[in-house]
Amino acid sequence: MKAIIYNSFKGPVTVEDVSYPQLKKDGVIIKVMATGICRSDWHGWQGHDADIVLPHVPGHELAGIIEEVGSDIKNFKKGDRVTVPFVSGCGRCGECYSGNHQVCENQFQPGFTAWGSFAEYVAIDYADINLVKIPDSMSFETAASLGCRFVTSFRALVKQAKVSAGEWVAIHGCGGVGLSAIMIANALGANVIAIDISGDKLEFAKSLGAHQIINATKVDDVVAEIKAISQGGTHVSLDALGSKITCHNSISCLRIRGRHIQVGLMAGKEASPEIPMGKVIAHELEIKGSHGMQAYEYPSLMEMILSGKIQPEKLIGKTVNLDEAADILINMNNFQEHGVTVINQF
Ligand SMILES: [Zn+2]
Ligand SMILES: [Zn+2]
Repeated sequence: MKAIIYNSFKGPVTVEDVSYPQLKKDGVIIKVMATGICRSDWHGWQGHDADIVLPHVPGHELAGIIEEVGSDIKNFKKGDRVTVPFVSGCGRCGECYSGNHQVCENQFQPGFTAWGSFAEYVAIDYADINLVKIPDSMSFETAASLGCRFVTSFRALVKQAKVSAGEWVAIHGCGGVGLSAIMIANALGANVIAIDISGDKLEFAKSLGAHQIINATKVDDVVAEIKAISQGGTHVSLDALGSKITCHNSISCLRIRGRHIQVGLMAGKEASPEIPMGKVIAHELEIKGSHGMQAYEYPSLMEMILSGKIQPEKLIGKTVNLDEAADILINMNNFQEHGVTVINQF
């Protein structure tokens, strides 16, 4: 089968003929119909992810059709249209028993702990408790765009930040995850402030539901600007980029008892940000992370999509084939892409 593969970190990324995945008893093989390209894939290629064993096939935001099911699979069959959260819990550890599959101690992540979905076929472990059936009316491209950035933003705002209607929410960074968060926060009834360094991205953010936008290159003090707009600071703030500056700004722009959620990955030289811990104490700020979402939480997200309140398909930038994707992956850090690029030709 065809797949995007690399043999060394930061080395060439090529499309090759590779071996078909092995079916496990508790797993399935999915014929990939669509798969999103994400900054996490770029981080993986850079060597920022300790789970990756070379040679490696990336790709973790996928949707497709089940080709084969393992002998232990009870809930799915060949031909089902499915997607999967980027973190699949084992179902047998303490975190999974507590319902927190998104932080499973033995988690399976296609494109990280195993070969991923930038391929004609992908194997998914622990499939019975992690696959999600796709509604008939939803395209594979849209379903693929949910599994990482969209569900992470959804959980960040709904479960971690517990955003209420009328609250101010700041979203730092308008890439795929930030734009998802803007759309979801708007649907939850929040007043959304979007911050980025690109005027184009900010205009797009506006069209997706940002009520106010701040171009960080055009103001002296981003935090002061946010505080002025929100009259004292936001109730909730997300660092949707993952950098020392955006993390610091996100915590600093909160009002008293505000909630910061870290969504953007902190990798490489951004890994250890400076936290204004004095303010965290004095203002009783909350700091939480958000890491994917359990498969069993998908129905509430699907209901919001089917009702038209949120439209993840608006985030799909362009669709490409495997060859084009190999190029896009290695150039990802140039921040050129609008929204989410999806591979749908293999
Ligand atoms: Zn991703
Ligand atoms: Zn587990």
